[in-house]
Amino acid sequence: MEKSCDMYDVIVVGAGIEGSSTAYHLAKSGNQTLLLEQFPLPHSRGSSHGQSRITRKAYGAKDFYTRMMFESFELTSELEKECGKQLFINCGTLVFGRPDNAYTLSTEKSLRRFRVSFEKLDSAEQRRRYPGMAFPDDFNYILDKTGGVLRADKMLQAFQAQFVRFGGVLRDGEPMMDLLPGDVVSVRTRGHVYRGRSVVLALGPWAATFLPSIGGQHSFRASEDYRLLLEGKRLGHVQFFQVSHFFH
Ligand SMILES: Cc1cc2nc3c(=O)[nH]c(=O)nc-3n(C[C@H](O)[C@H](O)[C@H](O)COP(=O)(O)OP(=O)(O)OC[C@H]3O[C@@H](n4cnc5c(N)ncnc54)[C@H](O)[C@@H]3O)c2cc1C
Repeated sequence: MEKSCDMYDVIVVGAGIEGSSTAYHLAKSGNQTLLLEQFPLPHSRGSSHGQSRITRKAYGAKDFYTRMMFESFELTSELEKECGKQLFINCGTLVFGRPDNAYTLSTEKSLRRFRVSFEKLDSAEQRRRYPGMAFPDDFNYILDKTGGVLRADKMLQAFQAQFVRFGGVLRDGEPMMDLLPGDVVSVRTRGHVYRGRSVVLALGPWAATFLPSIGGQHSFRASEDYRLLLEGKRLGHVQFFQVSHFFH
């Protein structure tokens, strides 16, 4: 049940997949959370719109992603149960290339190392299973059996609906105009000033224009888990999420 308040534990700005999933987890774990979006929802002007996104465990040599995907798949299945909708279609994902292709080779090694179920296909088998696709005869194929398609728009809506169900406050059509860091962070929109103990900026491509507009006097540091942390004495807890947790 939505309940606005004077002071939020966390204000999340940007209701793309990053912001919506972050806000959902915050509200679910008992934080009084505001999710602020500049456009009326749903909208098609961000990176998260559209019906489908690929998801998989095969990431070549990038073990960081493969490790993260185990948790990501679990959380997707939890969300499906909560909202009673199928959000993931497990059709498998195919990685292919010439036998010496570094990405294909490292993908196979990584899937073996992480004990992910996969199949190696030769050209004849590839053509039999996927007759609509034609590749050179010497290509190798690795089918990550755990991968598939996320129903992106449904997933985004599910995160937002569940967020509100867990008591989160969603304000769309309300752009953040300014951010005043401090022990209490203030987020100014046209009509309101929202106050929070922490703020998460999940602005997608708009970060490139918004952050310089407020950031002249602040410095940024990339953390190990790919977040950029805004540093400074009066900044309170300001986090800028850069990595995709759920579509990747
Ligand atoms: C065509 C395409 C295909 C892709 N395919 C895949 C794929 O198959 N698999 C995969 O894993 N990934 C894929 N990606 C990448 C993935 O979709 C993105 O990484 C992800 O959607 C990024 O989400 P986001 O929340 O960071 O950004 P966005 O979705 O852009 O969200 C940012 C939100 O912040 C809001 N905002 C910005 N500034 C303000 C402000 N001042 N006040 C209030 N709100 C604000 C915006 O309006 C927007 O809603 C694809 C991306 C694209 C574009």
